[in-house]
Amino acid sequence: MVTDALIVGAGLSGLIAANKLHKAGKIVTVVDKGRSTGGRLATRRIGDGIADHGAQFFTVRTETFREQVDEWLADDLVYVWGHGWSDGSLKRTQSDGHPRYAAKGGMNNIAKNLEENLDNVHVNTFVTDVKWDSNIWHVITHDGASFDSKVLILTPPVPQALNLLNNVPMSDVNLAELRRIEYGPCLCGLFVVDGDVNLPEPGARQNFDDAIYWIADNKAKGISEERIITMHVEARYSRVHYLDPDETTLSYLAKELQEYLGEGATIQASQLKKWRYSLPITTYPRDILQAAGLPLIFAGDAFGGRGRVEGAFMSGYAAGDTALELLK
Ligand SMILES: Cc1cc2nc3c(=O)[nH]c(=O)nc-3n(C[C@H](O)[C@H](O)[C@H](O)COP(=O)(O)OP(=O)(O)OC[C@H]3O[C@@H](n4cnc5c(N)ncnc54)[C@H](O)[C@@H]3O)c2cc1C
Repeated sequence: MVTDALIVGAGLSGLIAANKLHKAGKIVTVVDKGRSTGGRLATRRIGDGIADHGAQFFTVRTETFREQVDEWLADDLVYVWGHGWSDGSLKRTQSDGHPRYAAKGGMNNIAKNLEENLDNVHVNTFVTDVKWDSNIWHVITHDGASFDSKVLILTPPVPQALNLLNNVPMSDVNLAELRRIEYGPCLCGLFVVDGDVNLPEPGARQNFDDAIYWIADNKAKGISEERIITMHVEARYSRVHYLDPDETTLSYLAKELQEYLGEGATIQASQLKKWRYSLPITTYPRDILQAAGLPLIFAGDAFGGRGRVEGAFMSGYAAGDTALELLK
C-alpha cells in the first residue's frame, strides 16, 4: 500500500506532524527504532520509581504552542512544575514569572497521548535506507520491509537522517545546509536515593557554569513515589568523557551528588544514559527544510532556531502543514 505520508521518528515533531495529517484525513505511517515512542521525551522506570532522563520540562513562547499546551492542561496531561530554578545558592527558587511545564507521570506521557490518535505507529523499526523511485518513496527497514508513501518526513537528529540519503537525489545546497546542523551530547546519571536530598524548591538546581548543569528530584517533581535523582552533564564535558566506562562517569556523578544528600541518605542504585544528540547547537533558521524538487521534509528541534520541546513542536506542526500542501 502507498500511504500519503511516512514519518521517520516518533519523537514530538514526528507525532505532531502525524496528528496534523491524520486529522486532515490523510493516511500516515510513523516508524521509530526505539522500543516506544517519544524519542527524547524519555521516562524510565527503575524499581518502583520513575525518572525523566531526556527533556525535563518545557516553556511556552509562541501562540501556536500555547494553544496546544492549554489543551494538554485541560486534559490534565501537563502541569506547572515551577517558575524558574535556583543555581543552588538559594534554598528556594525565586520566581521569574515564566511557567515551566512538565507531564504528569513523566514526559513520555506526552508522546503516549499523541500516539493514541494514530492508527499506524511502528516501534522497534529501524530505517536503514530511503529510495526515491517514480514519484514514490520506499523506506526500507532493518528487516528488509518497505514502507511506501507519497510524502516523506524525516525527524531523526539530522546527522542520523543524513545517513539515510545515499539513494536520494538531494541538491548540494540542501546537503550543505543539513551538514551545518550540530548537536551536543549529554551524559545523564539516574540515582535511586533512600532518604532526603537538599535541592532547592521545587526540587531542581540549574547552573550552566557547572559541568553538571542540572540536578532534579523526580519525587519532588511529583512523578515518582521513589526518590530518583536525574543529573545532566553539559555538552563539552560529555563529549570529552563520552567513551569513558559507565562506572567511571557514574562514580564521578555520585561523588558530586554527595553534597545534596540529606543526613543518612544513601544511593541504592544508579544507571547511565548517554545521549549522543541531546540539544542542537547549530540550527537551521526555518521551521522545516523541504528538499528542492522532492516531496521530502526535514523536521525536528534543530529547525526554526528555537531548539527544545517547543522547537520540536513548531517544526512538526510546520512539517504537517507542508506535507498537506504537497498532497493537494
Ligand atoms: C538530556 C536531555 C535534556 C533535555 N532537556 C530539555 C528540557 O529540559 N526542556 C526542553 O524543552 N527540551 C529539552 N531537551 C530537548 C527535547 O527533548 C528535544 O528538543 C525534543 O524532544 C526533540 O524532539 P524531536 O522530535 O525533534 O526529536 P527526537 O525526540 O530525537 O525524535 C527523533 C526520533 O527519531 C528516531 N530515529 C532516529 N533514527 C531513526 C531511524 N534510522 N529509524 C527509525 N527511527 C529513527 C529516534 O528513535 C527518535 O525517537 C532535552 C533533551 C535531552 C536529550
